[in-house]
Amino acid sequence: MKKHIYIAYTGGTIGMKNTPAGYAPAPGYLGHLMTLMPELSDPAMPDYTIHEYDPLLDSSNMMPEDWFTIAQDIAANYDTYDGFIVLHGTDTMAYTASALPFMLRGLRKAAILTGSQIPLCEIRNDARRNLITALIIASDFVIPEVCLHFGSKLLRGCRSVKVSAYGFDAFDSPNFPPLGSVGTDIDINRSLLLDRPPDTEKLRVLGHPNDPDDTVVGWLRLFPGISSRVVGHILQPPLRGLVLGTYGVGNGPDRDKRLMAELKAATDRGVVIVNCTQCLEGSVHMGDYAAGSALADAGVISGFDMTTEAALAKLFHLFSVGCSPEQVKTEMQKNLRGEMKREA
Ligand code: ASP
Repeated sequence: MKKHIYIAYTGGTIGMKNTPAGYAPAPGYLGHLMTLMPELSDPAMPDYTIHEYDPLLDSSNMMPEDWFTIAQDIAANYDTYDGFIVLHGTDTMAYTASALPFMLRGLRKAAILTGSQIPLCEIRNDARRNLITALIIASDFVIPEVCLHFGSKLLRGCRSVKVSAYGFDAFDSPNFPPLGSVGTDIDINRSLLLDRPPDTEKLRVLGHPNDPDDTVVGWLRLFPGISSRVVGHILQPPLRGLVLGTYGVGNGPDRDKRLMAELKAATDRGVVIVNCTQCLEGSVHMGDYAAGSALADAGVISGFDMTTEAALAKLFHLFSVGCSPEQVKTEMQKNLRGEMKREA
């Protein structure tokens, strides 16, 4: 039986039109261009239904409530389709790909985010290949997770990061091998995939959209000379969770006693501070250096090898499902959706 794939077009370069003001999303345009692609009506290709969001967004404008819209859209259409493609701008695609796995539970079908660096309307583009490959992967393989396809890779969504503003291989997952490689063949590494939930498990969307003013998580990257007063301000309410971008294996300026005191005062108040390295590759080990142990003494918890995008999305998710700070701390240290490898 021919498979039927649901395509949610949220916006982004892939479907943009060349206007006098530059590339801009245009309602109906992507769907129209797709009807002109003979490849898509080839018998080897699945059927598809395209649902265009209103408004179409440059992904720089995406908010957590948009992640919920996508999750709810997938859930509403889950039983009707064999797989799901989310066409998305590349700028914040890794954030959405990191958030959806926490929101969508019981996923047994592929949900693949993709987009492109050059729109489909241009003669030389990467849109055509990414779109066709995503359709083939979503229909021909059993991939029970949220993933991101771009260029020559299929990546776990909550391990992905955007690594190039121009390149056709714009995404990578530096701390986790690709789930698949796309070359002359499409090779999926099944041993890496998440376990498929039992048939009896219903797809659920966890959490709920919040008012953007109530977003209570943040990301702060340390740098030499960072002011303890600035950090102290950031740590004030309404902040409830912070990803702290640290050096190397999770180190910070332990000689700055005022900075350490600000961090300690915040964690004592219940702010959850998660240590994620600024390095693209590798894991946090707070015990390796005194400069890391000091952060642990200040109540900062390890984010192990999580990406910043995944740590932020996970914090956001845990607060949005109503976890207390203690529960958030506990859950942050657990591998929930393949987003991290916990090391001793
Ligand atoms: N600014 C665009 C977006 O993220 C970039 C892209 O799609 O490549 O929507």
